[in-house]
Amino acid sequence: AVPTSIMVGTGRAAELGVLFRKSEALQQLRDAKVVAFDKTGTLTEGKPALTDLVLADGFAHDDVLALVAAVEAKSEHPIASAIVAAAEQAGLSLGAVTDFQSHAGNGVSASVDGRSVSIGSQRHLGQLDFSGFAADIDRLANEGKTPVFAAIDGKLAAAIVVADTIKPSSKAVIDALHAIGLKTAMISGDNQRTAQAIARRLGIDEVRAEVLPADKVATLKALRQFGPVAYVGDGINDAPALAEADIGIAVGTGTDAAIESADVVLLGGDLKGVLNALTVSRATMKNIW
Ligand code: ADP
Ligand code: MG
Repeated sequence: AVPTSIMVGTGRAAELGVLFRKSEALQQLRDAKVVAFDKTGTLTEGKPALTDLVLADGFAHDDVLALVAAVEAKSEHPIASAIVAAAEQAGLSLGAVTDFQSHAGNGVSASVDGRSVSIGSQRHLGQLDFSGFAADIDRLANEGKTPVFAAIDGKLAAAIVVADTIKPSSKAVIDALHAIGLKTAMISGDNQRTAQAIARRLGIDEVRAEVLPADKVATLKALRQFGPVAYVGDGINDAPALAEADIGIAVGTGTDAAIESADVVLLGGDLKGVLNALTVSRATMKNIW
């Protein structure tokens, strides 16, 4: 039978907008030593906007944006939405797309009106020469912005830069976790510099960046060197990590896959729910043991 105090605890948590899906989760959360967060959509709003388009010689702004947006219109990635919105705002018409391919954690590619277009991380477009962009990219990434690159017919055409907003509650939540003696971590598929810049602003202890979706679970397991890990995430890509974590916490604004894989679900997108969940688990377990 479930002890009364567990029932009281889960009820109290529900009032605070935190759903414990199984009663063991109250105890498991009390024992967590590390709280690891996904970046995009969890610590940040997950609704980036295009801020800069840095062109290579011989390429024109509207031509590049139209080609790239045509491909990204087939993608559901937040970066894709930012690029498509910018093209719409510029009133550009998008060409016909064939052979669309999505490469998880790396980028997308397709043919647009017979021209080959690839967009994604530097790793995704690895064989091209990025030296002309290096100074701009370092500066923008150090500001916490995310650069992706576009290749058109095999030539590097542009760096496309998007910026996401840190959620208003993220910094206070990280500070509060440190104040109760927990270690914090961030796991992101985004590039190293961008992830480090965001983590620095939030004061996060451990950063793991450029993590492919398939490697999120291994990255999470490695964080167990610090003790039991609570993982907070929102995306389809986070579902395996949420299932693997000692305690998986899904953000309520997240995908169904994330919510179904989690032990705890927060109502809405506010990360203060993580603190409420911890407070209730600690108070409840104190009454039992
Ligand atoms: P995260 O959600 O942690 O930011 P993802 O694994 O979704 O990471 O993406 C990692 C990286 O892959 C992005 O930062 C970007 O460089 C590249 N990428 C993924 N999808 C796209 C896309 N549709 N367009 C451009 N770049 C993409
Ligand atoms: Mg996410």
